[in-house]
Amino acid sequence: MSEVAVVTGASRGIGRAVAVALARRGSDVAINYLHNAEEAKNTVRAVQSTGAESVAVQADVSVSLQVEALFDQVEEQLGRVSILVNNAGVRQDGLALTMSDDAWERVVSTNLFGTFACCRRGLRSMLAARSGRIVNISSTAGLRGSPGQANYSAAKAGVIGLTKTLAREVAGKGITVNAVAPGYIETDLTGDLSEKQAAALTSAIPQRRAGSPEEVAELVAFLCSPEAAYATGGTYVVDGGLTA
Ligand code: NAP
Repeated sequence: MSEVAVVTGASRGIGRAVAVALARRGSDVAINYLHNAEEAKNTVRAVQSTGAESVAVQADVSVSLQVEALFDQVEEQLGRVSILVNNAGVRQDGLALTMSDDAWERVVSTNLFGTFACCRRGLRSMLAARSGRIVNISSTAGLRGSPGQANYSAAKAGVIGLTKTLAREVAGKGITVNAVAPGYIETDLTGDLSEKQAAALTSAIPQRRAGSPEEVAELVAFLCSPEAAYATGGTYVVDGGLTA
């Protein structure tokens, strides 16, 4: 029987690439999204074209009850969840001095609380079976300061702390928990950068280019595989050398 994966925020960008990479390795994949039902359907079709099963499930990961309903629906339609990739994320940049409470709250609740809420629910299923894989998508902004992103940087650093703690809590139960920290990846999330901002970012990267969602997805898919059983509690950068 196939493994069942949940990928949050999989209607676009890195999440979509992760869903397809997991499907190619033989998992059925549930596609979570917030607003973009059409794009979520496109991801479902991309997953199904590999021969895997897929469903799209709308849920706001920052709301506990919606997270519960997401997992309940996936388990009813596809089976017990054994792989969870917490990828849903937003940014709302601004200097800390003038950042609104709302901008802080939205970014921290989606990126950090959402990851926690999905881990808490996903672990319930994994602990019952004493096996599972969790990968939380952090960011290089969680490893070093990122001016204009106090909310995002704090949330992504929090994801790393959460990952390490969970890895220790479930280490004896056949479950691994890791974080992946991408650098500058070309997706809608970075699509609003001006040419000048994009060039400045690229010039700071030793490989002198942005990464693709697929380059992140392959690392994530490996960490979700049976072969990655001894890798837990780690944070793996995929950033063209940015933090080297
Ligand atoms: P993206 O293209 O903007 O896609 C974001 C995804 O998250 C969409 O599927 C969106 O759904 C979903 N989403 C947003 N809020 C949600 C919520 N509350 N509940 C459920 N889903 C929600 O972003 P991306 O660049 O692929 O980023 C994916 C992850 O990688 C994020 O955690 C991001 O912080 C991280 N990351 C990205 C970069 C980069 O350079 N791109 C670098 C480092 C880390 P809808 O389509 O329905 O809106």
